[in-house]
Amino acid sequence: MGEPKAIGYGTAGGRRTLDVLVVGLGPGGGAAAYRAAVAGASVLAIERKKCIGEPVQCAEFIPAPLGRWAQDEGVLRQHIEGMKSFLPSGASEQSPFPGLMVDRARFDRALARRAQEAGAEVMTCTRLTGLDVCTRTAVIGLADGASATVEYRALIAADGPHSAVARLAGLPELPVVHTRQYTVKLLQPHADTDIWLSDEFPGGYGWLFPKGPVANLGMGADRHFEHDLKAPLDRLHARLVAQGLVGSEILSRTGGAIPVGGMRASLVLESVLFVGDAAGLTHPITGAGIAAAVESGECAGRAAARFARADEAAALAGYDEDMRDQYGVALERAAARRRDLERHWRTPNANDDRTMRRGWIAFPEYFSV
Ligand SMILES: Cc1cc2nc3c(=O)[nH]c(=O)nc-3n(C[C@H](O)[C@H](O)[C@H](O)COP(=O)(O)OP(=O)(O)OC[C@H]3O[C@@H](n4cnc5c(N)ncnc54)[C@H](O)[C@@H]3O)c2cc1C
Repeated sequence: MGEPKAIGYGTAGGRRTLDVLVVGLGPGGGAAAYRAAVAGASVLAIERKKCIGEPVQCAEFIPAPLGRWAQDEGVLRQHIEGMKSFLPSGASEQSPFPGLMVDRARFDRALARRAQEAGAEVMTCTRLTGLDVCTRTAVIGLADGASATVEYRALIAADGPHSAVARLAGLPELPVVHTRQYTVKLLQPHADTDIWLSDEFPGGYGWLFPKGPVANLGMGADRHFEHDLKAPLDRLHARLVAQGLVGSEILSRTGGAIPVGGMRASLVLESVLFVGDAAGLTHPITGAGIAAAVESGECAGRAAARFARADEAAALAGYDEDMRDQYGVALERAAARRRDLERHWRTPNANDDRTMRRGWIAFPEYFSV
């Protein structure tokens, strides 16, 4: 996986008609392409990167039920038992929060491989550059610099937090938080994900996710409150080095944007279906989005195939409705908690344990009205 696969455009100006065009091959796009292909649709899935999944921009935790997608060799790296949440006072709370740490690049590639085996055509080094949702026409830039036109019946926008599909269709950008992450050596076995909540990480939190002999140590913050993510992450790193938990050497660095505004007003525009981060399905408090990307991708893939085969408009509306049923309440609560917290960042309240307890999923206060 990762090598561009020729699909017969040949020269610039090539034109192609197909059932489902999937834009982006993260977890959302891989799952969508797989389900649409299994349902019998002709599918082309394009990814702008050369190698699917790389560079990794993720802390690599997935909830336990998503383990069914982590069976391929080398994907599963460690089991997680719980989550330890540290409050500004230093008090901590242990919660059961089982899950898995995965090799995210392999996870994404395994999904894309599954889609390819089901009959989807996969092209890397290929990006969406133009779109007319009314005529259902997309322009894609190919690896050799040429471009081609694709006439689709349904398009699945799985192109992440800064969705090109949304931009080309005239939809607004989603609000995001920014992150910075180091991979460091883990000097003691660790079975929990650790979370730090305080005004040091305004609009986000600090995290340590163990992955066998290494750990992903990172933080997120809202740029309205903090531009410099390096200094607070370096301070957290230094504290953990002093505790003997992690090594001082930074093995690799990454980061990226996480949508935190909640679900788009509509997940369907003409015959375009938005999934995963492009749909705003990422949790506005935890930033977790892999499970929602895979689940929305699967659901959109089925709906797109049904729409393509039978012109069933109800399949598209049903997708939007299903996602609202499944994620609406949790995302709305998280968005409301974010708004509450925004009033407190950079005030003494943000270092009050009570404020942080109400704003974090591990505490009962988060779920109270
Ligand atoms: C630092 C960090 C840590 C995170 N940690 C976790 C975690 O531990 N657990 C968790 O559940 N979530 C985590 N998330 C969130 C998670 O990574 C996302 O929610 C998830 O990747 C969403 O999947 P997706 O398929 O919707 O989008 P993406 O994974 O972003 O995939 C979109 C794909 O579309 C491609 N693309 C974009 N534009 C185009 C174009 N024009 N043409 C073709 N291709 C295009 C991109 O190259 C990309 O491969 C983290 C995010 C960050 C930034």
